Amino acid sequence: LVRAQNVQKWFGSHQVLKGVDLSVERGQVMSIIGPSGSGKSTFLRCINQLETYQAGRIYVGDALIGFEEARDGKLVALSNRRIVAQRRRIGMVFQQFNLFWHMTVLENIIEAPVLVLGQPRHQAERKAMELLERVGLAEKANAFPSKLSGGQQQRAAIARALAMNPELMLFDEPTSALDPETTGEVLSVIAELASSGMTMIIVTHEMSFARQVSDRVMLMENGMVDYGGPPEQFFGAQPSPRLKAFLSTIH
Ligand code: ATP
Ligand code: MG
Repeated sequence: LVRAQNVQKWFGSHQVLKGVDLSVERGQVMSIIGPSGSGKSTFLRCINQLETYQAGRIYVGDALIGFEEARDGKLVALSNRRIVAQRRRIGMVFQQFNLFWHMTVLENIIEAPVLVLGQPRHQAERKAMELLERVGLAEKANAFPSKLSGGQQQRAAIARALAMNPELMLFDEPTSALDPETTGEVLSVIAELASSGMTMIIVTHEMSFARQVSDRVMLMENGMVDYGGPPEQFFGAQPSPRLKAFLSTIH
C-alpha cells in the first residue's frame, strides 16, 4: 500500500531525508524507531503531505503523493484540492493530541465526516459512538477534551482519525507525551487496530510494543533507513551494531 523510493528532503541546506526506501503491504504494520532528529516525523509528515519532499517518490496505493505529471511530462506540485483528496485516505495521530478544545469528544469525531465527507449527522454520530465503544470511551462522548486524561484524549484522537475510514494510519510517537499508567491503554487500542488488519506505520520508542505488533521494524538513522526486518530477526539474538548502539541510548 505504501512505497517510498529514494525520498529526499531538505530544510534549506540541511538534508533531513537522504534517500528513504521502504514499503508496507496492505494490512501490515511497520514500526520505525531511531534517534531523535533522524527524520522519522518528517518522513511521516511527507506521506501525509504536511511536508513536501524534493526528490524520490512516495506512493500510497496508486497515488503518487505530493506530485502530479504536467502536460509536458514534468512532475509538478499537487494542487491543494488534490492534496486534500489524498489526505482523506490517511489518518494521522500525533504525539500531542490535536483535538478541538471547544468541542465535545463526539463533536470532534463527527466534524470531518460531516463537513468533508458530507455524511448525515445522525449517521456520523452512530459511527462515532461505535468508534468510541471500540476505544473504550463511550461514556465520554459528551465530555470536553480538557476533562479527559492524556490517554483518553489520545484514544479520542484515534477514534477521530478512524471516523474518516482511512486506508492507512500513521502514528507519530502516540504515547510519548503520556504517563506510564495511561500509555498501556493507548497501546492496547493501537494493538487491537493492528490485529483488525489496518495498515499502519508507527513511530515509537516503545520497543516491546513495536516487537509485539509489527510485521516489520525499521531503524532510521541520519535520514536513512538503516536496517529493518521482521521483529524476531530485528531484535533477534544478534542485533546489528547500530541497533545495539541505539537501544543502549534508550535503556
Ligand atoms: P524525534 O525522535 O526527536 O521526534 P525525528 O526523527 O522525528 O526526531 P524530525 O522531527 O523528522 O526527527 O527532524 C529531523 C531533522 O529535521 C532535525 O534535524 C530537525 O531539526 C529538522 N527539522 C524538522 N522540522 C523542521 C522544520 N520545519 N524546519 C527546519 N528543520 C526542521
Ligand atoms: Mg519526531
